[in-house]
Amino acid sequence: MTEKSLVEKRFSDIAFNIEAIRENIEKALLRAGRAENAVRLMAVTKTVDEIYINHAISCGIDLIGENRVQEMLRKKPNLHLDGVEKHLIGHLQTNKVSQIVGEVDMIQSVDSVKIAREIGKQSMKKGIVTDALLEINIGLEESKTGILPAAAMEAIAEIAEMKGIRIKGLMAIPPICENERILRNFFSDMYNMYVDIGAKKLDNISMDILSMGMSGDYEIAVEHGANLVRVGSSMFGARVY
Ligand SMILES: *Cc1c(COP(=O)(O)O)cnc(C)c1O
Repeated sequence: MTEKSLVEKRFSDIAFNIEAIRENIEKALLRAGRAENAVRLMAVTKTVDEIYINHAISCGIDLIGENRVQEMLRKKPNLHLDGVEKHLIGHLQTNKVSQIVGEVDMIQSVDSVKIAREIGKQSMKKGIVTDALLEINIGLEESKTGILPAAAMEAIAEIAEMKGIRIKGLMAIPPICENERILRNFFSDMYNMYVDIGAKKLDNISMDILSMGMSGDYEIAVEHGANLVRVGSSMFGARVY
């Protein structure tokens, strides 16, 4: 195939995938007895070229997520971002906070009290408040970042006192599980934590967003109460690094 027809093929694949993912989400909502349109679909755009991201946007995607600060900042000027929200979803290093604050609409990957404090500090310098999610290490995995479930409440209470950052919900990446029942337990633990924290009605903390579910498991996550799913490879195809 020619270069041009390869691009066109990929365009039509992306359009088709977005439609299919949206349908799958609506079916999962129906199975769970949840309201229609109760889930936001994020396009995870790491490693994806701008032309394909812009195509996804033209297909109705209004929320994109990038893992890396540098990649987000590099691509941003080339994206058609009118009406599109941008979130950082990857681990953030302290020395990159000043670069990303003000450049995205939300940081989903607040995985320590220390990074929350730095986000608050850098946001105040810019006269803004940064919306954030607390990332929970729901599988207690040593290889992963995120706040341990047992430490979440204390972390939330500490962050609630900070200026320049506002926690709007929780995010998680559960372990890769062969056993679907175990995976369901992780999602359901997340949902319970989300409801419990919300019920405490802390100042400066709201539980509006429960971000969980990726290409392999977003339908299951939706069945367990996710209202934001982060989908990359099922939308854009396998990543080439
Ligand atoms: C890459 C990534 C995703 C999307 O992964 P896919 O399996 O390709 O859908 C979602 N969330 C985070 C935090 C990621 O890094």
